[in-house]
Amino acid sequence: MTFHVYYSANASRHPARPFHPERPHRTHAALAGLADIDLPGLSFVQATHASVDAARTLHDTDYIDRLLEPIGQRPGEKKTYRVLDGGDTHQAPDSLDAALEGLGSLQDAVDRTMSGEITGALVATRPAGHHATRNQAMGFCFISQAALAAEHARSKHGARVAVLDFDVHHGNGTEDLLWDQRDVFFASTHSATLWPLTGSGESKGAHGQILNVPLQPLTGGREMRSAWTRIFSRLRKFSPDIIIVSAGFDAHMADPISNLCWKAEDFDWLARQLGEVGRDVCGGRIVSFLEGGYSLPVLYDEVPAYIAGLMGADYQRISNAGSRFGRIDGTPYVPGTFTALTHPILKFQYRKAFQRQWIQDQDNGALLYTPPDFVKLNSREPLEEIAAAASERGVLDIRDIVRLERLCG
Ligand SMILES: [Zn+2]
Repeated sequence: MTFHVYYSANASRHPARPFHPERPHRTHAALAGLADIDLPGLSFVQATHASVDAARTLHDTDYIDRLLEPIGQRPGEKKTYRVLDGGDTHQAPDSLDAALEGLGSLQDAVDRTMSGEITGALVATRPAGHHATRNQAMGFCFISQAALAAEHARSKHGARVAVLDFDVHHGNGTEDLLWDQRDVFFASTHSATLWPLTGSGESKGAHGQILNVPLQPLTGGREMRSAWTRIFSRLRKFSPDIIIVSAGFDAHMADPISNLCWKAEDFDWLARQLGEVGRDVCGGRIVSFLEGGYSLPVLYDEVPAYIAGLMGADYQRISNAGSRFGRIDGTPYVPGTFTALTHPILKFQYRKAFQRQWIQDQDNGALLYTPPDFVKLNSREPLEEIAAAASERGVLDIRDIVRLERLCG
């Protein structure tokens, strides 16, 4: 059994805004979590690009052309990033390219899964995609990779495709792109009371091929299991050749912006059920794409548990500290918020100003970690200690940040 995990060689090419929960650290946490288990068959593969024309297959051409305009050319626009939808989504110079890496990796995973070369795959890149509609960027998303990969599987392989979405937010973009696609089944569970407030049970697609199951807040695993039992029954009848999953981990009770309160055992149940149905209906061909999930400890814990669950396997934690996926480097945040002040003592310097705290790389002034508001730091010691330990080691490792956010999140 070979399972591909796709990662970006430079997770920082779509930088976050400082103190924002959607940040490159999310993919570091998910990948470090996967590197720190003893699951046989996992193979880490560098992400591969899709052509921009692949995005035009379901998105409006004008919209893609607007995304291709160089950043900083429009009146009043910053050189470092462009705000796309009322402030929620920002586009830096390489953001579209990063989104195309996610799509290219999904396409590659679909091709290899359809040919039988691999059993399945997870694409652990950023930005996510399931909120991007035909003509609009929304909710940190630019292009709807899961829907575009479904179109790729349909047009290139003649496959019947199912797209399943368990992110806490409705996959409104996926739904928009797949609305008229008769041969693609799309099913989603999501909170009925969270943005974007779409995805009612009445929203069924042009051919009745869409199944939305909104869930009420705080309903936890009981409602979720009953919803997914219903979805799996429809899935068996639909009998796909391949399943593409929009895997968001923000329905977890520890997620800072969630309200469904799913527990680890609920995610485990979902993954194991999904793996079993997948083996029954399509030889286990399941390709997953990382959507939301804003708690770093949840991503570190649950992404590996999800993959093992899909495989029907068990695993032990191992220590891989210092491995390539833990290293926080580059420029994870768009520059310009804080002036870089170099300091000669430590490579990784703790800094504090205006009630904000952060860790900065003294070699190039880049911010490497800024705790979002939901991380409650009552003193300066925890970040100071992390910076000092990282300076001694020469690497700022995501595992230290995961530990910090587990204690203070
Ligand atoms: Zn989400």
